[in-house]
Amino acid sequence: MSQINVAVSRDFTMTGEDETEGGGPDVTAPYLKPENDAKEGQNMKRRGFLMSTAAALAGSAALFAAGRSSAAGKFPFMLTEAEWKKRLSPAAYRVLREEDTERAGTSALNHEKREGIFHCAGCDWPLYSSKTKYESGTGWPSFYEPLPGGVGTSTDYKLIYPRTEVHCANCGGHLGHVFNDGPPPTGKRYCMNGVAMTFMPGDAPAPRAS
Ligand SMILES: [Zn+2]
Repeated sequence: MSQINVAVSRDFTMTGEDETEGGGPDVTAPYLKPENDAKEGQNMKRRGFLMSTAAALAGSAALFAAGRSSAAGKFPFMLTEAEWKKRLSPAAYRVLREEDTERAGTSALNHEKREGIFHCAGCDWPLYSSKTKYESGTGWPSFYEPLPGGVGTSTDYKLIYPRTEVHCANCGGHLGHVFNDGPPPTGKRYCMNGVAMTFMPGDAPAPRAS
């Protein structure tokens, strides 16, 4: 599944806080033209080395794709950003709508060991069963498999290397990332921001048989 909306991500970049990821078209343009060395030097000073390197590696198309996948595309449950701001705590808004990452070890859901379902904090969509939760030691709630239809993914280039971003399949809210260093049976580690989820204790459905 791929949801990319350039217009939305640009709007976020212009109106949001000055984040290190940058993402505007002005950042990437010089790297497409080698003769623009002087300008590139200025840009590197202004934007910082990490951003410049990421931009150079990723290229403009990829960088656009790295934007706000959480807000991009069409999802069954959609609100305006003003409505999201009203609905969510500031911390949840930053993660779900702006792809922020909570500080490791700050979520009480790290220690949630009961049977139940982890839901999207934005729209209440069921995301993960407690049966697939495990202790990854990262300080973020981790799962080896989402519920069927629970999440979608996109590629993000916010760091130098590409990562697979994970979002709620219902509202597109950013949840975290998925990595290939998880336990059996999937080998996946769905590394989630606890602030992007709520927990509802109860009978947890079994993970998808695969
Ligand atoms: Zn959601």
